[in-house]
Amino acid sequence: MFPIRPLKDIPHTGQAAVFLVETAKRVHMLVRSAGLAESMSRYLIRRIEETPTIVFWPHTEIVGLEGGVHLESVRWRNSQTGQTEEHNINHVFVMTGADPNTALLDDCVALDAKGFIKTGPDLSQENLNTAPRPRARPPYLLETSLPGVFAVGDVRGGTIKRVASAVGEGSIAISFVHQVLQE
Ligand SMILES: Cc1cc2nc3c(=O)[nH]c(=O)nc-3n(C[C@H](O)[C@H](O)[C@H](O)COP(=O)(O)OP(=O)(O)OC[C@H]3O[C@@H](n4cnc5c(N)ncnc54)[C@H](O)[C@@H]3O)c2cc1C
Repeated sequence: MFPIRPLKDIPHTGQAAVFLVETAKRVHMLVRSAGLAESMSRYLIRRIEETPTIVFWPHTEIVGLEGGVHLESVRWRNSQTGQTEEHNINHVFVMTGADPNTALLDDCVALDAKGFIKTGPDLSQENLNTAPRPRARPPYLLETSLPGVFAVGDVRGGTIKRVASAVGEGSIAISFVHQVLQE
């Protein structure tokens, strides 16, 4: 197996491409979807479009990594045309999303389809009815299906995955904890 290097401190594929092209001769940006508009700000898309050394490949996924001691070439395939091509490339950075570590909570609090914790208004009536402990009131904003248990930050479903929002949610949750303690 070749080392696949994490891109520390760069949260977004577009930001990563713009950052890497400052030192790399060329950055190939492979995305499985048709374009960037769905997930990226207009400003970032313009930066990418205006940078000739960033080569954008839509509908594309990696299908092979080749080399000896180090990675030497990458093979990718266009999912629409089926065409495969190989390029001499020594580094691959993977930015394909996150997997919440919530398996241990499965029977405890309601999770969404991707395993993130559901809270407050996101909880369905069924989630509330099947909770391990009954509740006497609707859930608070950041409260899970288990009364008195709150979830904040990246592990919570529907969040924007940023430090500031995680910290902010933490401080909001504390005020709800005080309310629960007074009940
Ligand atoms: C590469 C990268 C770059 C980023 N850059 C930015 C940025 O520039 N600006 C920005 O605002 N956000 C950025 N983010 C997002 C930001 O890091 C997160 O939104 C933020 O850290 C969320 O905080 P959190 O406390 O919810 O989760 P985390 O910071 O992920 O903390 C969760 C903690 O729980 C621990 N844990 C997991 N499972 C268990 C368990 N079973 N028992 C005990 N502990 C457990 C983990 O080890 C971890 O320490 C970046 C993220 C990544 C991955």
